Amino acid sequence: MNERKRRYLKKRIAIRADGRCEYFRVLEYLSLYEFHLEHIISKKHGGSSLPENLAYACSWCNWKKGPNIATVLYPEGELIRLFNPRAQNWFDHFEADSSGLLIGKSPIGQATIKLLALNDQERIKERLEMIISGCYP
Ligand SMILES: [Zn+2]
Repeated sequence: MNERKRRYLKKRIAIRADGRCEYFRVLEYLSLYEFHLEHIISKKHGGSSLPENLAYACSWCNWKKGPNIATVLYPEGELIRLFNPRAQNWFDHFEADSSGLLIGKSPIGQATIKLLALNDQERIKERLEMIISGCYP
C-alpha cells in the first residue's frame, strides 16, 4: 500500500472511531503520540489489513496488545478472547468508575483490561482527567 492510500485509510479509521482509541477511549487530540492502525486479529494469526480487521489505537494499547488475541484469566485459568471493537460494543464490556478505574463488565472486558494494562496508574490518572473534563467515556 502506498503512503497516500495508507494515510487515507488511517483517516477513514480515525473518523469511524470518533478520534478515540477503540480500547482505552482516550481522544487522539489529548494524546502526545500519534495513533496506530491496529490489527485486531494480527497478521501472524491470519488477520487482514482490511478496515473490518483494523482498530484505531493509542500507542499504549497498540504496544500492549501486540499480536495477542486472547489471555488467561485466573484463578479459573480460562482462555478469554480480547475485546473486538468491530464485533462488540465497548459499553457492554467496560465501565469507568468515578475514580478513573476501568471495570470489566464481562470476561472479555476483564481480559482486555488485564492484557492492555488499562488500569496502570498513569492510565487511571489520564482517564480521571478526561472524566473530570467531561470527555469520557
Ligand atoms: Zn489505547
